[in-house]
Amino acid sequence: MHIIATGDMLTNDLGDRLRAILGPQGLAEPNAEFERYCVSFDGAFRGPAQYIARPSSTAQVSAVVTACRKAGISMVPQGGNTGLAGGAQPIDPRSIIISLERMRALRAVDAQNDTITVEAGMTLAEVQRHAADVNRLFPLSLASEGSCQIGGNLSTNAGGTQVLRYGNMRALTLGLEVVLPDGSMWSGLRGLRKDSTGYDLKQLFIGAEGTLGIITAATLRLFSRPRDIVTAFVAVASPMAALDLLHLARSHVGESLSAFELMRRECMKWVLVALPGQTSPFAEEHPWYVLIEAAGQGEPGSLRDPIEQLLSEALEKGLVIDGVLADSEAQRRRLWALREGQAEAQKAGGAGIKHDVSVPVSQVPEFIARADAALAAAIPGIRPFAFGHLGDGNIHYNPMPPLGISSSQFNERRSEINRIVHDIVADLGGSISAEHGVGQLRRSEMLRYKSPAELNALRLLKQAFDPHNLMNPGKVIA
Ligand code: FAD
Repeated sequence: MHIIATGDMLTNDLGDRLRAILGPQGLAEPNAEFERYCVSFDGAFRGPAQYIARPSSTAQVSAVVTACRKAGISMVPQGGNTGLAGGAQPIDPRSIIISLERMRALRAVDAQNDTITVEAGMTLAEVQRHAADVNRLFPLSLASEGSCQIGGNLSTNAGGTQVLRYGNMRALTLGLEVVLPDGSMWSGLRGLRKDSTGYDLKQLFIGAEGTLGIITAATLRLFSRPRDIVTAFVAVASPMAALDLLHLARSHVGESLSAFELMRRECMKWVLVALPGQTSPFAEEHPWYVLIEAAGQGEPGSLRDPIEQLLSEALEKGLVIDGVLADSEAQRRRLWALREGQAEAQKAGGAGIKHDVSVPVSQVPEFIARADAALAAAIPGIRPFAFGHLGDGNIHYNPMPPLGISSSQFNERRSEINRIVHDIVADLGGSISAEHGVGQLRRSEMLRYKSPAELNALRLLKQAFDPHNLMNPGKVIA
């Protein structure tokens, strides 16, 4: 294990204990590298730490947690640091960040059981590659997959583009290994589809954002690799037309539908600015776009007919204005780049106020219409970027400042904007965090949108696991 530490705090007892656990080469002077752990991916959150610990085994994680517990020092687990809610940055500067980045071993693949067991620090892209090596699919797919780690994916209950077909991290996980806040280790790496022996402990750690323990390994579900993939990119007039198209797509390709991504005109405009060399598939601008993908086990090309029939019926019905089908893997990648480049597009378009919300799929058009109208009334000229996973009801609704308004002026109205958007979400029976987590960003919102009974139950759980409030304190619940 390596520890990177700020020089003025190296003399304390905890430093000596960590050094003993971690070995002589485990300390490094503060340097530029230290900073990358303390600042979030997008620079929105910064939290200095006393040390960065990088364990290489579950035993080392356990020993570090035990030492921190005895010293009364809080711990912040960290994966790839791509989280968007400030969950991986400390609030207390005396904290220890525990990075899992050196725990990236492949522990087992059981192709007959369709499972893979990996350590928490393995990146999502590596897990996908190991699955592909045995001709299987691990379907979680995020634009950050080259950097985010399985431990972070589990802790945020990550979603991404394939949820409508395969589910989110909760649905993809069969077992976990976790170091608890008292330093003990729970080995629950079971590869079972059926297990009714009481509470499902692993589900408590999924989506807990490191507040209940440190995930050190996981057993995940694998699937058949599709032999046939068809990707279409279409222009539509409105979210309602997109919703009708989703319904029609299901009747044409059924469960083969694997992605259905919605994007507003402004998102297309700015991704073309952010990614020079990218081009729109259409000569003209359109109000909304949808990326549709179907994947199946049939002969390559066998899904093309049903997708072509879908598009021609949708054109006849006036649901689709224009559309293209990818003819090659290179074209498919170019279409996906328009969707996956949205993080860059948002940066290019101006400093927006991000919302990661979900509503029932049928309510997405209503949500967008009401939020657009309410924001336009409150802040004339506001530019509400919106894109996301229409297929599972998750929209990234990110209003940008009106032209001529600086981002700092706009930021002053952040609470008001959040209130408008989140109240509509709540009214439609939705969630204020669909896949990015609560972290620091939405912690105070939890108080407004969770019932007293639910908040109380969450606090009781936290207290039972972590009575001294040392495991990622200040995140998720106050
Ligand atoms: P981190 O950022 O390091 O940590 C996130 C949280 O998990 C923190 O609270 C941390 O304390 C905790 N944590 C990390 N590792 C552990 C562990 N081993 N044990 C216990 N707690 C731990 N997210 C989606 O869901 N869908 C998307 O489509 C998506 N697209 C994205 C696109 C871009 C360009 C970017 C930058 C981010 C995107 N994200 C998306 C957000 C982010 O990638 C996910 O939240 C991801 O799951 C975080 O993983 P990480 O390893 O980076 O976690």
